[in-house]
Amino acid sequence: MEKIQLLEFFKIINGETWLVEDERDNMKLYYRVKEVLSSKKSPFQHVNIIDSYDFGRCLVLDGVMQTTELDGYIYNEMISHIPVVTHQNPKKVLIIGGGDCGVANELSKYKELESVDMVEIDKVVVDECVDKLTMISGNAPNDERINFLFEDGIKFVKDKEKCYDVAIVDSSDPVGPAEVLFSEEFYVDLKKSLKDDGIMVCQSQSPIFHKEVLKRTRDILKKHFPIVRTYKAVVPSYPGGMWSFTLASFKYDPLNANLERLVKNTKYINKDIFKSCFSLPNFMKEYLDIE
Ligand code: SAM
Repeated sequence: MEKIQLLEFFKIINGETWLVEDERDNMKLYYRVKEVLSSKKSPFQHVNIIDSYDFGRCLVLDGVMQTTELDGYIYNEMISHIPVVTHQNPKKVLIIGGGDCGVANELSKYKELESVDMVEIDKVVVDECVDKLTMISGNAPNDERINFLFEDGIKFVKDKEKCYDVAIVDSSDPVGPAEVLFSEEFYVDLKKSLKDDGIMVCQSQSPIFHKEVLKRTRDILKKHFPIVRTYKAVVPSYPGGMWSFTLASFKYDPLNANLERLVKNTKYINKDIFKSCFSLPNFMKEYLDIE
């Protein structure tokens, strides 16, 4: 078997391999690794699939944990089901990013969807996850309604007008190829790609460690959409645990969604979670200027 060269973000400590996420100055996260299953250098990033002790198999991009078998479903369900259920008649969905295919897998549970365009810049991520992260990519590769398009999401949305009912931005952190996915210019183009009653949602980082990203995202979206809702979930493998999502909508408000449309085959989201995830703690309300 090919011997995998360990990259700088793997450290050997007392004979054990650890993934060390150390891009922050004052906090480092260590994950104990059972095996580095693959290591590829794509034109965009280092793509690793690891098998870890507590988190199972994981996707790691440029040394940063993206999704894990232990808790990936929490993030994937929250970013997918909330917008698709809020929209009353979704047919065409766009995913920007989403290379692990977890979001596409959640969307494939909705029979009423006609097509899902998944625009991922890096084919290597999709190939690796379809091959080795099957618990997360699930049914996505077999669902003919899902179109895998290997392009830069920024360029893709530029010439799209009123095409989609729902757009989901499942991006990595705002560094490297994903940095521009957090820009106002991108959100304005994405807005144009939505139909008149469309909805978009993005992951807006940790409400504890990335307050400025969350606030900026919300403020930009409030300039362009009449309904903007921030919601949260706990995803243990992301720094700080608590994670935020921001939904923007022309017409449908998730607070009035018809929850009968929520599918039953989920591990995390249910009607109670759907209703409660929009209740925010005081510290978030304060910096987001929410009454
Ligand atoms: N759920 C995870 C999280 O929040 O960390 C990860 C989501 S998924 C792995 C993020 C994907 O966005 C990556 O596969 C990356 O290649 C893709 N991506 C980054 N920049 C992109 C761009 N400009 N256009 C399309 N996809 C992009």
